[in-house]
Amino acid sequence: MYRTHDCGSLRASDINAEVTLAGWVQKSRDKGFMVWVDLRDRYGITQLIFDEERTDKALLEKAQQLGREFVIQVKGTVIERESKNANIPTGDIEILVKSLEVLSESKTPPFTIEDKTDGGEELRMKYRYLDIRRNPVRENLIFRSQVAMEVRNFLAGRDFVEVETPVLIKSTPEGARDFVVPSRMNEGQFYALPQSPQTFKQLLMVGGLDKYFQIVKCFRDEDLRADRQPEFTQIDCEMSFVEQEDVLNIFEEMTRHLLKKVKNVDVTDFPRMTYREAMEKYGNDKPDIRFGMEFGDISAFAKARDFKIFNEAELVVGIAVPGGASYTRKEIDKLIDWVKRPQVGAMGMVYVKCNEDGSFKSSVDKFYSQEDLAQWAEATGATAGDLICVLSGPADKTRGQLSALRMELAERLGLRDPEVFAPLWVIDFPLLEWDEDTERYHAMHHPFTSPKPEDIDKLSTDPGNVRANAYDLVMNGNEIGGGSVRIFDKQLQALMFDHLGFTPEEARAQFGFLMDAFEYGAPPHAGLAFGFDRLVSILGGQETIRDFIAFPKNNSGRDVMIDAPATIDDEQLKELNLKVTV
Ligand code: ASP
Repeated sequence: MYRTHDCGSLRASDINAEVTLAGWVQKSRDKGFMVWVDLRDRYGITQLIFDEERTDKALLEKAQQLGREFVIQVKGTVIERESKNANIPTGDIEILVKSLEVLSESKTPPFTIEDKTDGGEELRMKYRYLDIRRNPVRENLIFRSQVAMEVRNFLAGRDFVEVETPVLIKSTPEGARDFVVPSRMNEGQFYALPQSPQTFKQLLMVGGLDKYFQIVKCFRDEDLRADRQPEFTQIDCEMSFVEQEDVLNIFEEMTRHLLKKVKNVDVTDFPRMTYREAMEKYGNDKPDIRFGMEFGDISAFAKARDFKIFNEAELVVGIAVPGGASYTRKEIDKLIDWVKRPQVGAMGMVYVKCNEDGSFKSSVDKFYSQEDLAQWAEATGATAGDLICVLSGPADKTRGQLSALRMELAERLGLRDPEVFAPLWVIDFPLLEWDEDTERYHAMHHPFTSPKPEDIDKLSTDPGNVRANAYDLVMNGNEIGGGSVRIFDKQLQALMFDHLGFTPEEARAQFGFLMDAFEYGAPPHAGLAFGFDRLVSILGGQETIRDFIAFPKNNSGRDVMIDAPATIDDEQLKELNLKVTV
């Protein structure tokens, strides 16, 4: 038997017990006649003591040879510690060691295995197995597992069936580039890795499975933005004989369940907001509603005077920054520089200080009276002590810029507390989205998303304003899930393909299997998918998904530990009938 206890479980009540422990040497202190070793495993740290008087000299000498991260097994007696350590659960005791066996030696690790390590990110990724020995990384992985278990518990309790769908498939239409895999047996042909199991889960509904879920790897070959992974995990779900309302209700319940089980948080509000409202109030389709600072449209007031910039703008919109009236000139100038950065792109910013005495001081006092500014304050919800920041220009662009400013200011004001959770549904997304590059409409969600029945007429006359039965679950400024009610009618699906610019032949070539399936009694169905990595990182109170993935890729999509992607040898290429030309 390698151990009788783990390294986190012995207490004062175990004093005098004879125990066997095994684990890694976290560190040792050598006093010459006495050696202390911190022995670590997943469960904790237990202090070992080697003492030439109470044990023997040979053993002490052996202990002196131990290096960091050696794997050892010891047998000994639990004794009371002289100087207790209240910071760890095993801090009242130590093990007086009687025998020591080195199970595995270790080179000196390239970074310290401590909560705060000296290792840089790339180095830690290269030696991820050592990084995983560190508490924060290990705890994140355990947390992820716990969330996955709770998802399964919840869904299994509601009759969902977990089904695995294939990984070697044909291109799926989620709008990103596919990763492809050459087929050796079918010369010149390729599989694609799924961007999501979308079509398969719809086929499972045609198959009568009624409620499906899967915690599943998906692959998208996108240019890597910060904190995106080329392979990521979804909680993918689909249900039959449901309407949007049913889907929202069950996954609201699941979100509440997860927050309760893994964070012990009771969510009170779970609002629903239309896409349009989200854009107007927050300039963003994934609003962070942990704090206010809602947009106030002041176009009508601002355009009523002689200020050219505002008069020429499509939209004049502001937010109230709590306590901002006390900002110095210099601080405000810095803020103006911030919105003018190319990443934000505003031309400038007008501001109004709402003084404690009820008066206003603005950067456009020349044009606007105190009464005018009072209207702005009213529209933005500003009160005494606040600063109103105003941007203007083309509506969509300006909203985006003000949204960036809102998030930045909230961050600086500490309003984005990671231990506060504010989920909401954003509903009624547009069905189509204009793409400047290809000069045509694309499905905003995917081509199987159902338009709102009352908007179908607009498909040919006003396609940009057709709303979809599509919804996103948003939490703390992040989209953590999204889905839609599906088209289950062959004709409507054909109409959609047509509007998306597919010829009937192209649609048949790509999605013939789905359209065929719809010929055999397709039930009404709807579903959604959660981004599992993101969900876990937000629940875990952290922003980076990499920290919750056991073996993540770096920002250039590389696994620096196994060194992938990599070339393959000529023999393999030949078998695949591939030629590499670079
Ligand atoms: N397949 C969709 C996605 O990956 C989710 C859904 O519509 O269920 O975003």
